[in-house]
Amino acid sequence: MGLYNQYKKEVLETGLWLSERGYFGSLRSTGGNVSVRIDGSDLMAVTPSSVKYQEITPADICIVDLSGVVVEGSRAPSVEAGLHAVVYRARPDVNAVVHTHQIYGSVFAVLNQPIPSLFDEVSFTLGASVEVVPYALSGSAELAANVAGKLRNNANAYIIQNHGIIALGKNMDKALLAAELLEKVAHIYCLALSTGKPITTLPDQIQEMVRSLREYEVNEAPKKRMAK
Ligand code: 13P
Ligand code: ZN
Repeated sequence: MGLYNQYKKEVLETGLWLSERGYFGSLRSTGGNVSVRIDGSDLMAVTPSSVKYQEITPADICIVDLSGVVVEGSRAPSVEAGLHAVVYRARPDVNAVVHTHQIYGSVFAVLNQPIPSLFDEVSFTLGASVEVVPYALSGSAELAANVAGKLRNNANAYIIQNHGIIALGKNMDKALLAAELLEKVAHIYCLALSTGKPITTLPDQIQEMVRSLREYEVNEAPKKRMAK
């Protein structure tokens, strides 16, 4: 049993889960990617670039350090490995990242429009607002830098302009939940906007509560986990 097998399995299973549910926007292409931080190290397990999820084996999952050096695996890592790495560097609270081309999230990617606080259940997980990261070419260092520029708002989801979304979590299950909740709220917001009627957002004091909780989850909760 290899050192990283559990992580590789988790990344592959997550990719398949997302692919089977249409989160990558198409079933035949290879859009989107998944990673998990290797506990207590500067390494991540990340999907290989341009391989169909149904054809990936655990051995194809790459182990890469946060500066982009491949430590294990013979495939080229995802072109977005640098984007995943900037998240792990900036956000110690995050241990899993999924990047998808999901349909309703992508509606707001082409509208270049953030999603406000609409449901407390969603906002407590995602953050007070799902902001848009400015466009840069897929896989570019500029795109990773644009993502890095947004991470300080403590959110667990971002829209990438004219591209897709990223969802973050303290573990893989939470990152998947963030991707799912983002798709739900984007779907509902899109339907609501299409009526042309006014849309109500959460009251200010609830949005403030959301900001405090996100601040705690990002800055205090990881310290408590490490102290245990
Ligand atoms: P990879 O196949 O290299 O992961 O790229 C897919 C993608 O979504 C690029 O943004
Ligand atoms: Zn992409």
